[in-house]
Amino acid sequence: MAKINCIGVLTSGGDAPGMNAAIRAVTRAAIFNGFQVKGIMRGYRGLVYNEIVPFQTQNVSNIIQQGGTILKTARCKEFATPEGRKQAYDNMRAAGIDALVVIGGDGTLTGARVFAEEFDVPVVGLPGTIDNDLYGTDTTIGYDTALNTIMDAVDKIRDTASSHERLFFIEVMGRSNGFLALNGALASGAEAAIIPEMVTTMEQLDELIDHGFRKSKNSSIVLVAESELTGGAMGVAQHVKEKNPHYDTRVTILGHLQRGGSPTAADRIYASRMGRASIDALMEGQRNVMIGIKNDQIVYVPFTKAIRDDKPINPALLDTIKILSI
Ligand code: ATP
Repeated sequence: MAKINCIGVLTSGGDAPGMNAAIRAVTRAAIFNGFQVKGIMRGYRGLVYNEIVPFQTQNVSNIIQQGGTILKTARCKEFATPEGRKQAYDNMRAAGIDALVVIGGDGTLTGARVFAEEFDVPVVGLPGTIDNDLYGTDTTIGYDTALNTIMDAVDKIRDTASSHERLFFIEVMGRSNGFLALNGALASGAEAAIIPEMVTTMEQLDELIDHGFRKSKNSSIVLVAESELTGGAMGVAQHVKEKNPHYDTRVTILGHLQRGGSPTAADRIYASRMGRASIDALMEGQRNVMIGIKNDQIVYVPFTKAIRDDKPINPALLDTIKILSI
């Protein structure tokens, strides 16, 4: 195996709070172990268009507490083509980079897997996404912060919901999974969560509303994951409004505010541990793995496993929400 002298680091896909803490950890752990580090700007775009800058320890000073990513992030169509990846490889080699640490979600890790296979490059991934949808790790960098942001927002909406005796449908991110909706609902004491993993029929929805809004409460909050399978908060609210025109129904879409903000202590700790572990993994000769944390232990998850799209939710949580919302 070729010796690694220089490690490139990039952030790609949707930004997530804690990405900066991860960049800091990767950079510092690499330099501590005698490697050179180069920062690649705007995800894979920076490889294709040669936006690569040398990184010293000072480049990552004072960023652990900042949301977003100092390396910027982008979606790069060119990297999904063989020509784009060849250009990326040529630029990477010209910059003297021998191995990559990529921080992002399932798309980013999919790109990493293809690139690593095509060019025999050691690549290690860090799970950086608010969605928590990567397999083999208990959590992803950014998920805890997003959950806390959702909880704060719902707390505020609850004040107006109860003052006006309204039924609120709050849409949260999660196109293919309901982690944010489910745990956001639990954390904020919402009456229900509607998630893509367990499609809620309109009959179930009516029963749910009857159970909460009519039976014992005069205001209710339901979290809905943004998904074609759930219909989103607008779709759900429209159905309820048609059936119950007398309800004062409102929709709030939390949108991009879920991505921002200073990372929580948990996300800074995950990012720091995983960032350091990515350098350990490269030194051990690991490649094509995502760093995860399972039962508080660092684990290496092959890319092919991490990007499976069926990370299971815990169905008992839906039941807990229901029981606690009486
Ligand atoms: P999030 O989960 O926050 O959306 P993500 O990493 O899944 O983040 P994507 O936009 O899906 O975000 O992917 C990021 C980038 O990874 C893409 O813009 C593209 O450059 C690269 N990528 C994704 N899929 C592939 C693929 N099949 N082949 C090569 N590159 C890919």
